[in-house]
Amino acid sequence: MALSCPHCPAFVVPGAHSCGMCGASLLTEAVPGSGEAVCAVHPELRSLHSCSRCGSFACAQCLRQSERGELLCATCHARTPVGLVAWDRREELGTPRAFWDTCMDIILRPEATFERIQPSGTVGSSLGFAALCSFVGIFTTAFIYMGIMAVTPGASPAMEGDGVNPGAARAIGVGVFGTWIVMAPIVGLCSTLLVSGVDHLILRVAGNTEHPFAVTLRGNALSQAPYLLGLIPFCSMYVVPFWAIGLRVIAYRNLHGLSWGLAALGALAGPMLSCFVCGGGYLALILGMATLAGKS
Ligand SMILES: [Zn+2]
Ligand SMILES: [Zn+2]
Ligand SMILES: [Zn+2]
Repeated sequence: MALSCPHCPAFVVPGAHSCGMCGASLLTEAVPGSGEAVCAVHPELRSLHSCSRCGSFACAQCLRQSERGELLCATCHARTPVGLVAWDRREELGTPRAFWDTCMDIILRPEATFERIQPSGTVGSSLGFAALCSFVGIFTTAFIYMGIMAVTPGASPAMEGDGVNPGAARAIGVGVFGTWIVMAPIVGLCSTLLVSGVDHLILRVAGNTEHPFAVTLRGNALSQAPYLLGLIPFCSMYVVPFWAIGLRVIAYRNLHGLSWGLAALGALAGPMLSCFVCGGGYLALILGMATLAGKS
Protein backbone atom coordinates (compact mmCIF):
# COMPACT_ATOMS: atom_id res chain seq x y z
CA MET A 1 0.00 0.00 0.00
CA ALA A 2 1.50 3.34 -1.04
CA LEU A 3 1.21 6.47 1.04
CA SER A 4 0.82 9.68 -0.95
CA CYS A 5 1.75 13.22 0.00
CA PRO A 6 -1.27 15.41 0.84
CA HIS A 7 0.39 18.35 -0.98
CA CYS A 8 1.69 16.81 -4.21
CA PRO A 9 1.23 13.57 -6.23
CA ALA A 10 4.44 11.97 -4.89
CA PHE A 11 4.53 8.86 -2.71
CA VAL A 12 6.13 9.31 0.70
CA VAL A 13 8.07 6.84 2.83
CA PRO A 14 6.09 5.79 5.92
CA GLY A 15 7.81 7.31 8.95
CA ALA A 16 9.23 10.30 7.04
CA HIS A 17 8.49 13.73 8.53
CA SER A 18 8.48 15.56 5.20
CA CYS A 19 7.80 14.84 1.54
CA GLY A 20 10.91 13.98 -0.49
CA MET A 21 9.43 15.59 -3.61
CA CYS A 22 7.84 18.92 -2.57
CA GLY A 23 9.55 19.21 0.81
CA ALA A 24 6.33 20.00 2.65
CA SER A 25 6.10 18.86 6.26
CA LEU A 26 3.84 15.87 6.72
CA LEU A 27 3.31 16.71 10.38
CA THR A 28 0.26 18.92 10.09
CA GLU A 29 -1.21 20.54 13.20
CA ALA A 30 -4.78 19.48 13.78
CA VAL A 31 -7.40 22.21 13.95
CA PRO A 32 -9.15 21.79 17.32
CA GLY A 33 -12.85 21.10 17.02
CA SER A 34 -12.70 20.49 13.25
CA GLY A 35 -13.58 16.81 13.68
CA GLU A 36 -10.72 15.62 11.46
CA ALA A 37 -8.89 12.40 12.32
CA VAL A 38 -5.95 12.92 14.66
CA CYS A 39 -3.04 10.62 15.59
CA ALA A 40 -3.88 8.25 18.45
CA VAL A 41 -0.47 8.93 20.03
CA HIS A 42 -0.12 12.62 19.12
CA PRO A 43 -3.62 14.17 19.34
CA GLU A 44 -2.21 17.58 18.31
CA LEU A 45 -1.28 16.19 14.86
CA ARG A 46 -3.47 15.27 11.93
CA SER A 47 -3.63 11.58 11.01
CA LEU A 48 -2.10 10.72 7.65
CA HIS A 49 -3.42 7.16 7.47
CA SER A 50 -4.98 4.54 9.70
CA CYS A 51 -3.15 1.40 10.75
CA SER A 52 -4.19 -1.51 8.52
CA ARG A 53 -3.97 -3.90 11.47
CA CYS A 54 -5.56 -2.18 14.51
CA GLY A 55 -7.30 0.64 12.64
CA SER A 56 -6.04 3.43 14.89
CA PHE A 57 -5.17 6.77 13.28
CA ALA A 58 -1.49 7.58 12.94
CA CYS A 59 0.46 10.72 12.05
CA ALA A 60 3.38 10.68 9.60
CA GLN A 61 6.01 10.00 12.24
CA CYS A 62 3.97 7.08 13.70
CA LEU A 63 3.43 5.23 10.42
CA ARG A 64 5.56 2.24 9.46
CA GLN A 65 5.57 -0.15 6.56
CA SER A 66 5.67 -3.90 7.22
CA GLU A 67 7.78 -6.27 5.09
CA ARG A 68 4.55 -7.24 3.35
CA GLY A 69 3.86 -3.61 2.45
CA GLU A 70 1.03 -2.90 4.91
CA LEU A 71 0.87 0.50 6.59
CA LEU A 72 1.04 -0.04 10.34
CA CYS A 73 1.13 2.14 13.42
CA ALA A 74 4.39 2.06 15.38
CA THR A 75 2.86 -0.17 18.08
CA CYS A 76 1.66 -2.87 15.67
CA HIS A 77 4.92 -2.68 13.74
CA ALA A 78 6.94 -3.22 16.91
CA ARG A 79 4.72 -6.16 17.83
CA THR A 80 5.41 -8.03 14.58
CA PRO A 81 8.47 -10.24 14.81
CA VAL A 82 9.44 -9.47 11.23
CA GLY A 83 11.16 -12.04 9.17
CA LEU A 84 10.93 -14.92 11.59
CA VAL A 85 8.91 -18.12 11.65
CA ALA A 86 8.10 -19.72 14.98
CA TRP A 87 10.89 -22.23 14.26
CA ASP A 88 13.43 -19.37 14.39
CA ARG A 89 12.23 -18.61 17.93
CA ARG A 90 12.31 -22.19 19.21
CA GLU A 91 14.53 -21.33 22.17
CA GLU A 92 11.83 -18.99 23.40
CA LEU A 93 8.79 -21.09 22.40
CA GLY A 94 10.16 -24.58 22.97
CA THR A 95 10.87 -26.94 20.07
CA PRO A 96 7.47 -28.77 19.88
CA ARG A 97 5.45 -25.56 19.92
CA ALA A 98 7.80 -23.81 17.45
CA PHE A 99 7.63 -26.80 15.09
CA TRP A 100 3.84 -27.07 15.29
CA ASP A 101 3.23 -23.33 14.78
CA THR A 102 5.61 -23.18 11.82
CA CYS A 103 4.01 -26.20 10.14
CA MET A 104 0.51 -24.77 10.63
CA ASP A 105 1.58 -21.37 9.26
CA ILE A 106 3.08 -22.94 6.15
CA ILE A 107 0.19 -25.40 5.62
CA LEU A 108 -2.58 -22.83 6.12
CA ARG A 109 -0.96 -19.62 4.81
CA PRO A 110 1.97 -20.57 2.57
CA GLU A 111 2.05 -17.36 0.50
CA ALA A 112 1.76 -15.00 3.45
CA THR A 113 4.32 -16.95 5.48
CA PHE A 114 7.01 -17.21 2.82
CA GLU A 115 6.42 -13.61 1.79
CA ARG A 116 7.08 -12.38 5.31
CA ILE A 117 10.08 -14.40 6.46
CA GLN A 118 13.71 -13.53 6.05
CA PRO A 119 15.40 -15.64 3.36
CA SER A 120 18.37 -16.79 5.37
CA GLY A 121 18.60 -19.13 8.31
CA THR A 122 21.41 -21.22 9.70
CA VAL A 123 22.11 -24.56 8.03
CA GLY A 124 21.61 -26.31 11.37
CA SER A 125 18.20 -24.74 11.91
CA SER A 126 16.98 -25.81 8.45
CA LEU A 127 18.34 -29.34 8.75
CA GLY A 128 16.80 -29.70 12.21
CA PHE A 129 13.39 -28.77 10.82
CA ALA A 130 13.75 -31.21 7.91
CA ALA A 131 14.83 -34.02 10.23
CA LEU A 132 11.84 -33.43 12.47
CA CYS A 133 9.50 -33.42 9.45
CA SER A 134 10.82 -36.82 8.35
CA PHE A 135 10.43 -38.18 11.84
CA VAL A 136 6.88 -36.89 12.32
CA GLY A 137 5.99 -37.99 8.78
CA ILE A 138 6.50 -41.69 9.44
CA PHE A 139 6.33 -41.98 13.20
CA THR A 140 2.65 -42.91 13.74
CA THR A 141 2.52 -45.30 10.80
CA ALA A 142 5.77 -47.05 11.74
CA PHE A 143 4.69 -47.21 15.37
CA ILE A 144 1.41 -48.91 14.43
CA TYR A 145 3.26 -51.42 12.22
CA MET A 146 5.55 -52.08 15.16
CA GLY A 147 2.48 -52.83 17.30
CA ILE A 148 1.03 -55.11 14.63
CA MET A 149 4.34 -56.97 14.39
CA ALA A 150 4.49 -57.37 18.16
CA VAL A 151 1.07 -59.00 18.44
CA THR A 152 0.90 -61.00 15.20
CA PRO A 153 1.59 -64.65 15.98
CA GLY A 154 4.24 -65.96 13.58
CA ALA A 155 4.82 -62.79 11.61
CA SER A 156 6.18 -64.64 8.63
CA PRO A 157 5.07 -68.21 7.80
CA ALA A 158 8.15 -68.70 5.63
CA MET A 159 10.40 -68.07 8.61
CA GLU A 160 8.45 -70.49 10.78
CA GLY A 161 8.85 -73.12 8.09
CA ASP A 162 12.60 -72.66 8.35
CA GLY A 163 12.43 -73.45 12.06
CA VAL A 164 12.75 -69.84 13.27
CA ASN A 165 10.62 -69.47 16.36
CA PRO A 166 7.72 -66.99 16.23
CA GLY A 167 9.22 -64.91 19.03
CA ALA A 168 12.36 -64.22 16.99
CA ALA A 169 10.31 -63.44 13.87
CA ARG A 170 8.25 -60.98 15.86
CA ALA A 171 11.36 -59.35 17.29
CA ILE A 172 12.78 -58.92 13.79
CA GLY A 173 9.53 -57.34 12.60
CA VAL A 174 9.46 -54.91 15.51
CA GLY A 175 13.15 -54.19 15.03
CA VAL A 176 12.71 -53.31 11.34
CA PHE A 177 10.05 -50.68 12.07
CA GLY A 178 11.91 -49.44 15.14
CA THR A 179 15.00 -48.91 12.98
CA TRP A 180 12.83 -47.11 10.43
CA ILE A 181 11.75 -44.63 13.11
CA VAL A 182 15.31 -44.04 14.27
CA MET A 183 16.71 -43.75 10.73
CA ALA A 184 13.99 -41.43 9.36
CA PRO A 185 15.49 -38.15 10.68
CA ILE A 186 18.95 -39.09 9.38
CA VAL A 187 17.62 -40.06 5.96
CA GLY A 188 15.49 -36.89 5.87
CA LEU A 189 18.48 -34.74 6.75
CA CYS A 190 20.69 -36.29 4.06
CA SER A 191 18.03 -36.19 1.35
CA THR A 192 17.23 -32.55 2.18
CA LEU A 193 20.90 -31.65 1.77
CA LEU A 194 21.09 -33.55 -1.51
CA VAL A 195 17.85 -32.23 -3.02
CA SER A 196 18.59 -28.64 -1.94
CA GLY A 197 22.03 -28.97 -3.51
CA VAL A 198 20.54 -30.07 -6.83
CA ASP A 199 17.86 -27.33 -6.69
CA HIS A 200 20.47 -24.70 -5.87
CA LEU A 201 22.67 -25.83 -8.73
CA ILE A 202 19.73 -25.54 -11.13
CA LEU A 203 18.89 -22.05 -9.83
CA ARG A 204 22.53 -21.03 -10.22
CA VAL A 205 22.69 -22.30 -13.78
CA ALA A 206 19.34 -20.63 -14.56
CA GLY A 207 20.85 -17.29 -13.53
CA ASN A 208 19.98 -16.71 -9.89
CA THR A 209 23.35 -15.96 -8.39
CA GLU A 210 22.36 -13.58 -5.61
CA HIS A 211 21.58 -15.81 -2.68
CA PRO A 212 23.70 -18.43 -0.94
CA PHE A 213 22.92 -22.14 -0.55
CA ALA A 214 21.50 -21.55 2.96
CA VAL A 215 18.49 -19.77 1.38
CA THR A 216 17.64 -22.71 -0.89
CA LEU A 217 18.13 -25.08 2.03
CA ARG A 218 15.78 -23.03 4.22
CA GLY A 219 13.10 -22.98 1.52
CA ASN A 220 13.46 -26.70 0.92
CA ALA A 221 13.33 -27.59 4.62
CA LEU A 222 10.36 -25.36 5.47
CA SER A 223 8.37 -26.62 2.48
CA GLN A 224 8.36 -30.07 4.12
CA ALA A 225 5.86 -28.79 6.70
CA PRO A 226 2.95 -30.92 5.34
CA TYR A 227 4.76 -34.02 6.67
CA LEU A 228 3.09 -33.01 9.93
CA LEU A 229 0.08 -34.85 8.49
CA GLY A 230 2.04 -38.05 9.01
CA LEU A 231 0.76 -37.89 12.58
CA ILE A 232 -2.49 -39.20 11.09
CA PRO A 233 -1.55 -42.82 10.34
CA PHE A 234 -1.19 -44.01 6.73
CA CYS A 235 -2.04 -40.54 5.45
CA SER A 236 1.19 -38.89 4.47
CA MET A 237 2.82 -41.30 2.05
CA TYR A 238 1.15 -40.43 -1.24
CA VAL A 239 -0.07 -36.84 -1.16
CA VAL A 240 2.45 -35.09 1.03
CA PRO A 241 5.58 -35.35 -1.18
CA PHE A 242 3.75 -33.62 -4.06
CA TRP A 243 2.31 -31.03 -1.70
CA ALA A 244 5.81 -30.30 -0.39
CA ILE A 245 7.16 -29.83 -3.92
CA GLY A 246 4.32 -27.39 -4.66
CA LEU A 247 5.16 -25.43 -1.53
CA ARG A 248 8.80 -25.41 -2.59
CA VAL A 249 7.85 -23.33 -5.65
CA ILE A 250 6.26 -20.73 -3.33
CA ALA A 251 9.24 -20.89 -0.97
CA TYR A 252 11.88 -20.40 -3.69
CA ARG A 253 9.86 -17.65 -5.35
CA ASN A 254 9.63 -15.60 -2.16
CA LEU A 255 12.95 -16.35 -0.49
CA HIS A 256 15.01 -15.97 -3.67
CA GLY A 257 12.79 -13.23 -5.11
CA LEU A 258 12.24 -15.16 -8.37
CA SER A 259 9.54 -15.26 -11.02
CA TRP A 260 7.03 -18.11 -10.83
CA GLY A 261 8.67 -19.77 -13.84
CA LEU A 262 12.17 -19.76 -12.43
CA ALA A 263 10.96 -20.86 -8.98
CA ALA A 264 9.06 -23.76 -10.56
CA LEU A 265 12.14 -24.73 -12.55
CA GLY A 266 14.23 -24.77 -9.36
CA ALA A 267 11.70 -26.83 -7.43
CA LEU A 268 10.54 -29.23 -10.16
CA ALA A 269 13.53 -29.83 -12.43
CA GLY A 270 15.38 -31.87 -9.79
CA PRO A 271 12.54 -34.31 -9.01
CA MET A 272 11.65 -34.59 -12.71
CA LEU A 273 15.25 -35.26 -13.64
CA SER A 274 15.53 -37.97 -10.99
CA CYS A 275 12.29 -39.58 -12.25
CA PHE A 276 13.73 -39.48 -15.74
CA VAL A 277 17.02 -41.05 -14.62
CA CYS A 278 15.26 -43.73 -12.53
CA GLY A 279 12.70 -44.32 -15.28
CA GLY A 280 15.52 -44.60 -17.81
CA GLY A 281 17.31 -47.05 -15.52
CA TYR A 282 14.21 -49.22 -15.22
CA LEU A 283 13.65 -49.09 -18.95
CA ALA A 284 17.26 -50.13 -19.62
CA LEU A 285 16.89 -52.98 -17.12
CA ILE A 286 13.65 -54.21 -18.71
CA LEU A 287 15.08 -53.92 -22.22
CA GLY A 288 18.23 -55.74 -21.09
CA MET A 289 16.22 -58.57 -19.59
CA ALA A 290 13.99 -58.79 -22.63
CA THR A 291 17.07 -59.05 -24.85
CA LEU A 292 18.53 -61.79 -22.64
CA ALA A 293 15.22 -63.63 -22.62
CA GLY A 294 15.06 -63.33 -26.41
CA LYS A 295 18.54 -64.86 -26.81
CA SER A 296 17.99 -67.89 -24.60
ZN1 LIG B 1 4.78 16.30 -1.47
ZN1 LIG C 1 -1.83 -0.48 14.70
ZN1 LIG D 1 1.76 10.18 15.95
